[in-house]
Amino acid sequence: MIPAQFDYVAPATVEEAVAALAEHGDEAKIIAGGQSLLPVLRLRLNAPELVIDLGRIEGLSGVREDGPDLVIGAMTTHHEVANHPLIREHAALLAKATAEVADPQIRHRGTLGGALAHADPAGDLGAPVLALGATLVAQGPGGVRRIAADDFFVDLFETALGEDEILTEIRIPKHTGWGAHYEKFVRIKHQWAIVAVAATVRLDGDTIAEARIGLTNMGSTPLRAHTVEARLAGSLATVEAVGAAAAAADEGTNPPSDLNGAADYRQHLARVLTRRAVLAAAGR
Ligand SMILES: Cc1cc2nc3c(=O)[nH]c(=O)nc-3n(C[C@H](O)[C@H](O)[C@H](O)COP(=O)(O)OP(=O)(O)OC[C@H]3O[C@@H](n4cnc5c(N)ncnc54)[C@H](O)[C@@H]3O)c2cc1C
Repeated sequence: MIPAQFDYVAPATVEEAVAALAEHGDEAKIIAGGQSLLPVLRLRLNAPELVIDLGRIEGLSGVREDGPDLVIGAMTTHHEVANHPLIREHAALLAKATAEVADPQIRHRGTLGGALAHADPAGDLGAPVLALGATLVAQGPGGVRRIAADDFFVDLFETALGEDEILTEIRIPKHTGWGAHYEKFVRIKHQWAIVAVAATVRLDGDTIAEARIGLTNMGSTPLRAHTVEARLAGSLATVEAVGAAAAAADEGTNPPSDLNGAADYRQHLARVLTRRAVLAAAGR
């Protein structure tokens, strides 16, 4: 279907974009890479009067270091995130998960900020951002505020962003030297995750000193597997020990049932994929 008619602006600054959002309220929609918004418009699930394109705003994309953090602009494409040397070195989990998003064409257009703001529970980027303890930076008429990833994902397709706010940056504490793996379960290549597990571990010899694990599509938002993380801390990186810890991966989850799998099947997958992801992250 062809989208309903809308006006289009491409502001040069975040302030102009925020002002346009404030003026038009819920009649306006931000467009980043358009990879989720355009299908929504074409299906006429949303018909905004105004589309505000962030594509001409300088400084909203790119990656830089800021002391202990990596700072990734919201408009940085999936392709750049997956391949950027700083992200590969200091936040390998995010680079690996991003390499699993959709196909190369979508990865060249879609953006990290767009994916997080869209908040699809089957999206691949919420779980690694959560596991890495990121902070999301939003700008609105009242100024700039920082939102912890733990507080960002509110519900299905719902985030803590206000209607008049734009996500500008994603700040990730450096996890230099941590092993990382994103285990995505799909029936067909390039499909959305039926379930996926984002795992990153810090090893001390043969022992897992720290582990951080995020789950994709195990509820209405990405989730942390806190019990597994606690069990893994200080345990040996063996198949037995990791398997025992991963048995708690479905604790506190509420996955959907659909044509790709029933909820209890997804819970089984979470346990199996967590074991695989942690062992792979630990290089086993
Ligand atoms: C065929 C297909 C397969 C896909 N498969 C996967 C997959 O396997 N895994 C996966 O994770 N994703 C997948 N995607 C989604 C893809 O990753 C999108 O790129 C992503 O979800 C949205 O990013 P975008 O930059 O294109 O955002 P857009 O489509 O431009 O925007 C998405 C939403 O976020 C809002 N928004 C965008 N940027 C901002 C911002 N900076 N501040 C505030 N609000 C903002 C928009 O208003 C809109 O509501 C797929 C998409 C398609 C079309």
